[in-house]
Amino acid sequence: MDFDLTREQKDIARAAKEFAEGEFPELARECDREERHPMELVRKAAELGFIGVNLPEAYGGSGYGYLEKCLVCEAFWRVDPGLGSVLVSATFGADMILLFGTEVQKKAWLEPLTCGEAVMGSAITEPDAGSDVVSTRTEARAEEDAYIVNGSKMFITNGTVGSYFVVLCLTDPDNPSRHRRHSVILVERERPGFEANKLRHKLGIRASDTAELVFKNVRVPRDHLIGEQGQGFYQFMNFFNLTRIHVGAEGVGIAQGALDRAIRHLKTRHQFGHPLAVFQANQFKVAEMATRIHAARNMVFEAAFRADQGQPDHTLTAMAKWYAGETCTYAAQEALQIHGGYGYFAEYDIERFYRDAKIIEIYEGTKEIEKIIIARSML
Ligand SMILES: Cc1cc2nc3c(=O)[nH]c(=O)nc-3n(C[C@H](O)[C@H](O)[C@H](O)COP(=O)(O)OP(=O)(O)OC[C@H]3O[C@@H](n4cnc5c(N)ncnc54)[C@H](O)[C@@H]3O)c2cc1C
Repeated sequence: MDFDLTREQKDIARAAKEFAEGEFPELARECDREERHPMELVRKAAELGFIGVNLPEAYGGSGYGYLEKCLVCEAFWRVDPGLGSVLVSATFGADMILLFGTEVQKKAWLEPLTCGEAVMGSAITEPDAGSDVVSTRTEARAEEDAYIVNGSKMFITNGTVGSYFVVLCLTDPDNPSRHRRHSVILVERERPGFEANKLRHKLGIRASDTAELVFKNVRVPRDHLIGEQGQGFYQFMNFFNLTRIHVGAEGVGIAQGALDRAIRHLKTRHQFGHPLAVFQANQFKVAEMATRIHAARNMVFEAAFRADQGQPDHTLTAMAKWYAGETCTYAAQEALQIHGGYGYFAEYDIERFYRDAKIIEIYEGTKEIEKIIIARSML
């Protein structure tokens, strides 16, 4: 067993960290305050090869694996989760096309992402169906040459800035199996009847765009079906087995970023004539944060390693995402406590990390859903 990253992997992580440290700090505060998605940052990151890290070179990607993508994710989220989200989610849905799309679809919809011309999204959640994915009702009625899409999707990342979306649609409502009634259909934003309404006042990752999507008789060509008709539920489960690994890496990034800031504060602030770092209560917090982060990172790395071997392990991925989510909410809370009253103010950034961390326990499967997946596999 080799626990060392290769020289190239270390270089990738270092390059991502340097990019984030150079570009993020001021922009992060501004985009959080104004709830602004900075497309200019996506273009810059694309020029340097940070968008589409795991997409093949044939489609303009960097041709690396899920482990390398995790290294970039962690580095970005460690500096700022909101901007990290903007960059990592620019290709949210690309893995669906990569896994199940045709060659023509890959050429058409992966390349614009990797050169920073487009961002995309994945639309599964609906107002009345979140964790219960098979209850989604947005329908795509098949006509001779088109699907007619009607319905609405909720909380969709990149909703008002995305150029196209892979949408989970009900296509076979009469199939006796509830799991074989849906299909994945790609819908472009410029199609008549498509509407996106930005959702404001999020708790965290405010630079990331979130919207409600509405489809009113949206006509989409039949060749926009990704994968097989009736297999949409299973396709999305496979997709999440990969993308949840990156969500785990996002959590590790937030936790590490919180620890970095806590250590800086402990070394520079003095009370009772000493730096805060000399007090055992604070030292224990650092020790616990560092240990949990190490454990979470190892789980994420192993999940990514298995995916890169072509054998994604859905139980391990669920463990990694759940544990990374718990670790980052814990670390952000402890780091804020270490900052005392200063932690309560935006100027010290830790306040933002505290707000941002919670999303890891909610999106792409809540922590309860992850535990259900783990328990099912154990029992
Ligand atoms: C900022 C943000 C971005 C998002 N981006 C996207 C996106 O790009 N695309 C997309 O499709 N969705 C997106 N989502 C939606 C997200 O994936 C859902 O919010 C999440 O899956 C939970 O669904 P829900 O909100 O409907 O909660 P519910 O499913 O209503 O769950 C509410 C609570 O009940 C618990 N619960 C539900 N069922 C069970 C059960 N069987 N057993 C135990 N506990 C249960 C849940 O764990 C949760 O704690 C995003 C959400 C947010 C906040």
